[in-house]
Amino acid sequence: MARPLRAKLDLDALRHNYRLACECAPESRALAVLKANAYGHGALACARALEPLAPAFAVACIEEALELREGGIDKPIVLLEGFFEESELEIIAREGFWTTLHSDWQIEAVERSRLPGPINAWLKFDSGMHRLGFGTEDFVRHWRRLALSPKVCGVHLVTHFATADGVDMAYANHQLAEIEALRYRLEAEGYEVPCCLANSPATLALARARGQWHRPGLMLYGADPLERANPFSARLRPVMTLESEVIAVRSVEPGEPVGYGGRFIASRQTRIGVVACGYGDGYDRHAVDGTPVLVDGRRTAIAGKVSMDMLTVDLTDLPTADIGAKVTLWGRAEDGSQLSVDEVARHCDTISYTLLTGILPRVPRIVS
Ligand code: PLP
Repeated sequence: MARPLRAKLDLDALRHNYRLACECAPESRALAVLKANAYGHGALACARALEPLAPAFAVACIEEALELREGGIDKPIVLLEGFFEESELEIIAREGFWTTLHSDWQIEAVERSRLPGPINAWLKFDSGMHRLGFGTEDFVRHWRRLALSPKVCGVHLVTHFATADGVDMAYANHQLAEIEALRYRLEAEGYEVPCCLANSPATLALARARGQWHRPGLMLYGADPLERANPFSARLRPVMTLESEVIAVRSVEPGEPVGYGGRFIASRQTRIGVVACGYGDGYDRHAVDGTPVLVDGRRTAIAGKVSMDMLTVDLTDLPTADIGAKVTLWGRAEDGSQLSVDEVARHCDTISYTLLTGILPRVPRIVS
């Protein structure tokens, strides 16, 4: 029998979440962000599922874009980090990738290139994230150059929000003011300025930030990036269910420890279930005792440190759960009960982004 751990993918939920992203921003087109192997879900499977709906995709780098092309995806693909070497420009032009330009050297490389055709440029504005992109004056200078350049067929303004997921929207509104001031300035010079602004948090919660394009990532996979309640978030459906089984059961006496370091100490006669899933699969080793799991759809919790291939859960209050019981680490159990990856992330002192992207190749992805 195969090891029972698998990541089951609900591609109908992916399409539902994509449609929700479109509904949040009806005036804007949604680039489906598929970077980091579609946040751990499998980039090609997700791209194929979304291709009939999404006008374009976004990934971090050229290797990720080529994986999609080689898999038969022929929609435009935006490179969110742009290119790392001048030689990549030839591939960008040949494959019709749209590239972010965030550094002087990239713009110079485009200008001196001898490409078969012009490229679609996404000029990055640093509106306050202070990671990639140009400040206002450099941005305007580059925009004017690129708008005239025969090497370029269309320039977009792209920027990224630093805090749109939080409770306090003051900084996101400050970024918006910077973007709007820049846009008006360029429009006053007669330029059309198509913008790509919103990530998932801004798509869900910052109506003014949506632009001609928006770039939802996490929300497509059914996790909620917001720290506050939101009516759209409540309609997200989980795409990945991380599922395994109880492979052994033992009884421990009060006062006895369980697992590495003896972190969990039984306070009563305790039934411990051993589950085939560990940090060698990408499950977060920082999960504390009390991190929720579902066993046959019923809630219980991790008891003991996560090890490489296994973790241990408390089955004391689930006396019928035995070897072979289905364990849902996150997602939807067979009886329809759910455990959100966001809730698990809170018990690991992390965010659902890292849990989803952290699932390792040894876990088979199965379209359910
Ligand atoms: N755009 C850029 C530049 C990003 O770096 C990311 C994610 O890291 C996204 C869009 C998608 O963000 P989210 O997953 O929050 O929707």
